[in-house]
Amino acid sequence: MVLAENVHKSFGRLEVLRGIDLEVRRGEVMCVVGPSGSGKSTFLRCINHLEKINGGRLWVNGRLMGYRQHGGRLYELRDSQVAAQRRDIGMVFQAFNLFPHMSVLGNVVEAPVRVKREPRAAARETAMELLDKVGLADKAASFPRQLSGGQQQRVAIARALAMRPELMLFDEPTSALDPELVGEVLDVMKDLAREGMTMVVVTHEMGFAREVGDSLVFMDGGVVVESGAPKRVLTDPQHERTRAFLSKVL
Ligand code: ATP
Ligand code: MG
Repeated sequence: MVLAENVHKSFGRLEVLRGIDLEVRRGEVMCVVGPSGSGKSTFLRCINHLEKINGGRLWVNGRLMGYRQHGGRLYELRDSQVAAQRRDIGMVFQAFNLFPHMSVLGNVVEAPVRVKREPRAAARETAMELLDKVGLADKAASFPRQLSGGQQQRVAIARALAMRPELMLFDEPTSALDPELVGEVLDVMKDLAREGMTMVVVTHEMGFAREVGDSLVFMDGGVVVESGAPKRVLTDPQHERTRAFLSKVL
């Protein structure tokens, strides 16, 4: 579903990703951990081409992100074509970024109606199912400011799911939450994983990684230092840098 080959990304002279090779198969959950500044968010943003890579190749579901390959050469896609590729990829950030002036239901209905031109009635029906799924059917008419952080983040997940993505990217979805609200968001993500959603999750929640992750990737300094089955990486890290990081977060 996601295939990264030797992905490089620089901001000016700062080389942030220095050759990332990773694969996430359909239905798998890959968790990504690593110190601040190691390039985790940048890598996620490269997956859906919010950032242009400077080298390597990145495919999502067999499609080369941001480019068309022809006769061995790469041609940049137009913005509208990139937007079309991105439509199948859901993203949930640390900050919930809900539309503050719209109801919860309005937030979930907006993209399918605007972007996919779904009839409003059908989009509302799907949105209500999704809100039910994240446990917030009774908040459909509320506004974001009336919700707790955990509830807002669950709306953000429902909103991403409303586009029927084939891949979900999560960038520290629980980092901004009070500790007692983390569990309700992780539970929604666990359900999603159980239903077979392909997910890449940047997180500090090692319990989640161990329980739900099919793989755990440790990034440092723009490279994948170590990856493997979460239990193995967590209990028997092979690299000193992984050990040092884990000893701080576990
Ligand atoms: P954190 O755990 O703090 O979220 P991270 O692993 O997600 O860190 P990134 O956000 O990917 O790290 O940032 C990696 C490096 O790239 C950092 O040094 C950061 O300052 C730099 N960086 C990220 N985005 C930009 C940008 N748009 N312009 C310039 N530098 C950037
Ligand atoms: Mg980050």
